[in-house]
Amino acid sequence: MREFEFAVPVVVVGGGACGAVAALAADAAGAEVLLIEQDAKPTGTTAMSQGLMCAAGTAQQALLGIDDSADQLFADIVAKTRGQTDPAIARAIADGSGPCLDWLSADIGYPFELDLGFRAAYGHSRQRLHGWPGHGGADMVQFLHQKLAERGIDVLMQARLVEIIADGDIVYGIIVERPDGAREAIGCGALILACGGFAANHAMVSAHMPEAATARHNGHEGNRGDGIRLGADLGAALADMGSYQGYAMLADPHGITVPPGILVEGGVLLNSAGRRFVDEVDDIAGMVHPVMAQPGGTAWVVFDAAIEALCAYTLEVQALRDTGAIRGAENVGTLATMIGADPAVVARTLAELEARAGATDSFGRVWGKDRPPQFPLHVIKVCGAIYHTQGGLMIDGEARVVRTDGSRFANLFAGGGSARGVSGPSYWGYLPAMGLGSAITLGRIAGMSAARAAMPT
Ligand SMILES: Cc1cc2nc3c(=O)[nH]c(=O)nc-3n(C[C@H](O)[C@H](O)[C@H](O)COP(=O)(O)OP(=O)(O)OC[C@H]3O[C@@H](n4cnc5c(N)ncnc54)[C@H](O)[C@@H]3O)c2cc1C
Repeated sequence: MREFEFAVPVVVVGGGACGAVAALAADAAGAEVLLIEQDAKPTGTTAMSQGLMCAAGTAQQALLGIDDSADQLFADIVAKTRGQTDPAIARAIADGSGPCLDWLSADIGYPFELDLGFRAAYGHSRQRLHGWPGHGGADMVQFLHQKLAERGIDVLMQARLVEIIADGDIVYGIIVERPDGAREAIGCGALILACGGFAANHAMVSAHMPEAATARHNGHEGNRGDGIRLGADLGAALADMGSYQGYAMLADPHGITVPPGILVEGGVLLNSAGRRFVDEVDDIAGMVHPVMAQPGGTAWVVFDAAIEALCAYTLEVQALRDTGAIRGAENVGTLATMIGADPAVVARTLAELEARAGATDSFGRVWGKDRPPQFPLHVIKVCGAIYHTQGGLMIDGEARVVRTDGSRFANLFAGGGSARGVSGPSYWGYLPAMGLGSAITLGRIAGMSAARAAMPT
């Protein structure tokens, strides 16, 4: 056992959603906690997000008469990942997401509401996306850190984890580095790695997901994979390292996410030849590749005022409007000129769309009651990007890190981007709002498990 000048029962690394929720949960379980964060101000990928979380069987859903359950979410995860997800983690997230949201709402005061504007789509069979109306991920991080402060939970900013001190399956402490290069050792009874994924680490992206190596990165630059690398150095197993959320609709050059509702409510994607090329409501993450494969790696989202109105409550649509990213096309000629296509091809594409209203189109998109967009059209130029990774440290259903020999660390836990999620092995298994859904759910599980490990009865 190493001696440390300073030691805390539970140390959490990373101040995003996973780390903040883990710290709150460990504190609620009675453990003394220290959260460390490398940045001067907590942001992380969480602050860039829309702040939407998927969760099943919540009090909010019950109130609105939505028939959802942990079993239904589990079935949706298994279906979306073609059965290639870890059932123990999927079970933990499916079972834990509703209680986690209800706890955050009732005990921590997070003002969640069910996002009724986000239909059950892209693999979710129920309406289960929850958020804070009028607020995105930046407000979420601020809110969670305010709650950490109110509960007297210590947070050490500008302290980067550079080493984990362990022997066999037991972690004794960590070394952090300060901006001036000074290093400090901190002892701990349990350690939670919540320091994000590796989307900002180009070497790791190229090695594990070469098809995304040329994609733009639109996530937090702190996602260098530190937790994953340091855990692996101790003998932790890694899993699903090729898993990530790409996104097909990053406004170009504005860098603002076009919300998926624009497509779900009837929008379509055209390429510079004026043709559609994909079922726009099939796969929220996987659609990045068809977009990247188009000439110039760009496409145009085409919708109309009625579709925009249905999504106007989102912060992103407001930002797209404010920055002038949404342009108008009164007729075929203006649209064709805007995207550089032959007007005859554009006219044919739109006529084909109109003919398919209420039916299934040649890409397999089922239009149901939806109407394709009508003139005057609204148009946004977009490109594909990688947003966040979904593979990482292998964990069990208690968020405990698993070693390469299958045994578990006694007191090392992980969640969020640092841990293997439930999106399967590649880019096609991501369910909407599962990034934060799994970050907060695993954060809570890790916090409770770490408190137990640090304070054995
Ligand atoms: C544009 C965008 C929109 C998104 N929208 C959504 C959405 O609406 N819903 C959803 O479910 N998902 C969304 N996601 C994904 C979601 O944001 C992430 O899955 C989630 O935020 C991950 O949380 P985290 O706590 O694991 O990581 P982060 O929020 O990235 O937090 C990790 C923290 O660890 C710190 N850190 C890293 N290394 C170290 C170190 N060595 N020492 C100390 N600190 C360190 C980082 O600085 C960072 O603050 C979106 C992603 C992007 C990019």
